[in-house]
Amino acid sequence: MAFSSVVTPAAEHMLRDVVHTPFWLDTPQRPEASDPLLSPVTADLVIVGAGFSGLWTAYLARQRHPDLDIVVVDGGRIASAATGRNGGFVAASLTHGVGNGMSRWPDQMPQLHQLGMANLNAIVATIRSEAIECDLQLSGEIDVAVEPHQVEELHEMVAMAESIGADVRLLSAEQLRARIDSPTYLAGAYDEHGVAMVDPARLAWGLADVLRASGVRIIENSPVRSMNRVGSDILLGTDHARLRARRVALGTSAFPPLLKRLRNYVVPVYDSVLVTEPLTTEQRASIGWAQREGVSDAGNQFHYYRMTEDGRILWGGYDASYYGDMGPHRENNPAAFGRLATHFRQTFPQLDGIAFTHAWAGAIDTCSRFSGFWGTAMDGRVAYSMGFTGLGVGASRFGAEVMLDVLWGEQTERTQLQMVNTKPIPFPPRPLRDVGIALTRRSINAADENSGRRNLWLRTLDRIGLGFDS
Ligand SMILES: Cc1cc2nc3c(=O)[nH]c(=O)nc-3n(C[C@H](O)[C@H](O)[C@H](O)COP(=O)(O)OP(=O)(O)OC[C@H]3O[C@@H](n4cnc5c(N)ncnc54)[C@H](O)[C@@H]3O)c2cc1C
Repeated sequence: MAFSSVVTPAAEHMLRDVVHTPFWLDTPQRPEASDPLLSPVTADLVIVGAGFSGLWTAYLARQRHPDLDIVVVDGGRIASAATGRNGGFVAASLTHGVGNGMSRWPDQMPQLHQLGMANLNAIVATIRSEAIECDLQLSGEIDVAVEPHQVEELHEMVAMAESIGADVRLLSAEQLRARIDSPTYLAGAYDEHGVAMVDPARLAWGLADVLRASGVRIIENSPVRSMNRVGSDILLGTDHARLRARRVALGTSAFPPLLKRLRNYVVPVYDSVLVTEPLTTEQRASIGWAQREGVSDAGNQFHYYRMTEDGRILWGGYDASYYGDMGPHRENNPAAFGRLATHFRQTFPQLDGIAFTHAWAGAIDTCSRFSGFWGTAMDGRVAYSMGFTGLGVGASRFGAEVMLDVLWGEQTERTQLQMVNTKPIPFPPRPLRDVGIALTRRSINAADENSGRRNLWLRTLDRIGLGFDS
């Protein structure tokens, strides 16, 4: 079944009452913002970014070096960017899926799989030991085929997963529809142990509470405008006051990087997300989904969806929008919302009449190899971790470990990895970048409408290892 590109009036009607706030942030549980930085601060470690990258860095730094004076500073609020806007899929994969990993680091994939599983297990263990209430569900993720050629691709993906020691199993259409009922489903691949589901904002706020209780200072609404070396320290300038640090960790994701050299490595790509009103008992019975697994369909442009704790469906993805800039004016994309609503109706026709309550978009730190990359600057006093390309809820914790390894000059299993020791191919500068991305997006769309067949442009990019995804 091809997803329709024509937005129907019925789909538009479903969007009539949406608020343009991320569902996860639209709760009285959201903590009050802390005051901006008004007077100078010094610290052993300053972390820029209070998303998962920054929060995990602070958490792990506190564990590794209990006496360290740690400050986290954010230009917005805790989890106000990707961390509070995502699907809440916590994947073990560090490589944006097994196929992408196999195409880049085939020899190290069994090791990367084990490290990714250990990372996921550590996240689950922390949530439990710190008693963070974030609706943790160990329900796994099912990739679903909705077109015949995708069935074959799922078989190949499962074989690849088996070859690196991952436990992913095929589901027939009947087995799949007995779990979650959509007439579009042709087959599934169930990764039961490699993905957990969370409420991402509550996880981030829970981590922030733990950090504050351990003496970490978190400063919000204080964008860092400059970063300079002064003697053996780093000075970070904000609008009203400066931070002085021995070491700096950058977890700034899709935002303009503080290091000029990173300008061409990451581009902001917007993903849109909808959330429905809570399903009634009858609606829930018509669909099943008792285990609340995460679901993703298998197109190049894919939807991801899941059920929330209060029985709503979060439905996101498909359009990956690149504008060349970022900001609140990019967070409301009526055309993308309309397409998503249309595709939702195609997937779950039995939920006809349901309304969406929330619609938003968030920026993804897309790099050309779709997986995190790392490095240092200023004589090893500054480290960065970014490029997770829409799969960083779990992998950002691994990225935080790497940042701490390199900041303290430690040789670890992680720092020996090819993935950690190489960088993606940079995107060309604008305006060439904009033209290339537009052509790539059009080609991906054509491939999805043409049974997955990739044109010459995409095959050429594949050969040189350059890609565009969310
Ligand atoms: C719509 C959407 C859906 C997604 N779904 C999933 C999913 O289901 N599973 C998954 O694994 N991943 C998903 N992702 C990606 C995932 O959310 C991120 O990879 C993850 O949260 C890690 O985020 P981060 O901390 O690196 O970045 P962010 O959460 O974006 O945090 C970066 C922070 O840095 C701050 N900052 C930037 N520059 C400065 C500066 N100069 N000064 C001060 N502060 C600064 C920003 O204010 C921001 O708070 C999704 C992303 C989006 C947008």
